[in-house]
Amino acid sequence: MLRPVALLALLLASTPAAAVETMRISMGDVEGAEVRISGPGLRFGGDSEEGDFVRVGAAEARVRRRGGGGLEVNGAPILGDAVRFRAETESPDAGVAEVAPLRAGGREVRGEVVVRLAGTRLQLINVLPLEDYLAAVLGSEMPVSFPLEALKAQAVAARTYALQKKLEAYGSPFHMGSSVLHQVYGGMDREDARTRAAVAATRGQVLTYELAPIEAYFHASCGGRTESGAAALQRDLPYLKPVDCPCGELPASHWSAQVSTAEMDAALRFASAGLRTAARTATGRVSRVAAGARSLDAAQLRQRLGYTRIKSLSFDVERNAQGFRFTGRGYGHGAGLCQWGAKVLADRGQGYKDILAHYYPGAELQQLY
Ligand SMILES: [Zn+2]
Repeated sequence: MLRPVALLALLLASTPAAAVETMRISMGDVEGAEVRISGPGLRFGGDSEEGDFVRVGAAEARVRRRGGGGLEVNGAPILGDAVRFRAETESPDAGVAEVAPLRAGGREVRGEVVVRLAGTRLQLINVLPLEDYLAAVLGSEMPVSFPLEALKAQAVAARTYALQKKLEAYGSPFHMGSSVLHQVYGGMDREDARTRAAVAATRGQVLTYELAPIEAYFHASCGGRTESGAAALQRDLPYLKPVDCPCGELPASHWSAQVSTAEMDAALRFASAGLRTAARTATGRVSRVAAGARSLDAAQLRQRLGYTRIKSLSFDVERNAQGFRFTGRGYGHGAGLCQWGAKVLADRGQGYKDILAHYYPGAELQQLY
């Protein structure tokens, strides 16, 4: 397998900018042997960035798997195992065409849709510009009321993360799973002037390390010090080192939770009597809990009790009459960009480049396109 740095060079050298700028997101498999695609000025072509699109000649295209293999569109066989659709509204002044939303498998989506034959199944993939994708997801990743410099830092982190996922999936039919699609279209009503401005102001900017996009993890709040990538996510990366963060001063960084003895016994899968924190990471987060001779990975305990209930691994736990009382700081895994910390730094007048340099030390900001 090629190293990521080689993949980036390959991507930049051999494909037009348009390919770098698009994301392919799975819409899932079609149930049944046929899927219908519709939209104004419906066109279809090969599944490539440079492909020519021709008119379908109908408002709807029915794509079917042929008995002997291959695909057909409205009864006519096509070449290859994938077909791409787009809807175009043409202005009366010749030459100006705008891409319009499509309906595919009962859902309305932006950009283009690919129907792909995967074994005997039909797979739907949404192809949309990376910048449109970012404008749609930014509002569900960070409160839109946050200062613009914090939103810009988030936009760069999200762009870098998406591009890194794309490189990781190089050569695969899609880069992200269908749960991401829910974020895109679920977040469309949160798209507003501020998220658009943050994405536009940082267009094409990504964080790199040794010429490859970094793994730009982010989280809501670290509680005062970020966690290393190794401790939080088993990603031992030079730019995911613990740094101090001003979010610890915020009341919102503090949380507590009550867990009954029965719930704790069930989560541990052993008796909770004498429960204690058995090991902590260098930043003070709990890495292991123990009771008697048995112990459990703290991340696993957090997963079993619920991520929204046990908001972080930065906690103390005490026995009380009702069971166990957790008091903690921060929300999330704690690695990379701390969103509440970014808000504090932006409120203090720091720009997004300083914010990114703080949370991803050693990473370089590059203009990719
Ligand atoms: Zn923080």
